[in-house]
Amino acid sequence: MITLALSKGRIFDETLPLLAAAGIEVLEDPEKSRKLILPTNQPHVRVVLVRATDVPTYVEYGGADIGVTGKDVLLEHGGAGLYQPLDLQIAKCHMAVAAPTGFDYARAIRQGSRITVATKYTHIARQFFAEKGVHVDLIKLYGSMELAPLTGMADAIVDLVSTGKTLKANDLVEVEHIMDISSQLVVNQAALKLKTAPIRRIIDAFTQATPAAA
Ligand code: ATP
Ligand code: MG
Repeated sequence: MITLALSKGRIFDETLPLLAAAGIEVLEDPEKSRKLILPTNQPHVRVVLVRATDVPTYVEYGGADIGVTGKDVLLEHGGAGLYQPLDLQIAKCHMAVAAPTGFDYARAIRQGSRITVATKYTHIARQFFAEKGVHVDLIKLYGSMELAPLTGMADAIVDLVSTGKTLKANDLVEVEHIMDISSQLVVNQAALKLKTAPIRRIIDAFTQATPAAA
């Protein structure tokens, strides 16, 4: 049995064409079914639905043999014990620093001021500001980061941006592009040794179906 960990929503939706390229068809719709384990047309392949942030953990501990996860989630997890053979070029967005229009971020940085930044991505944020030599107090949040500057709790946020509409709706502007984000195939290293052929087949089919990295 090969177990593939996916999260509901864009990662599930954007992985479906890759699975199709590997001859794998998921037999139930996660938006309609309450099941967390979904069968496929291949009796030896199943999909488990987990929270986006839990995908690396499932693969690390062998709850799943392979998984699809955002680089954002992977960097926060640390990637220990995970083989990362392929950037799937799906669920693309970027990580950014954003601040209210009324906060002069550039000046704060220039003057070496200490800034307060709210984010779900504390590892990425810590590393980014450390490399810039910026003194930062991080506030860990689990969602709706945009609210933190609006309530005066933080000067800025670190969050994922795709269209920028959410920032705009909350009077925030992007002030730093931290990194491009896309989703990554991750594989449990022990599973790769024990089930080499079927896992290789999936990696190869996904590779064929993925455009070369830009
Ligand atoms: P949950 O909704 O369970 O709290 P989540 O918000 O992390 O989890 P999604 O919103 O489905 O889950 O995001 C999953 C992954 O998709 C993210 O880790 C990121 O890599 C990518 N992603 C997030 N937002 C966007 C976006 N606006 N455009 C493209 N990809 C995105
Ligand atoms: Mg979400």
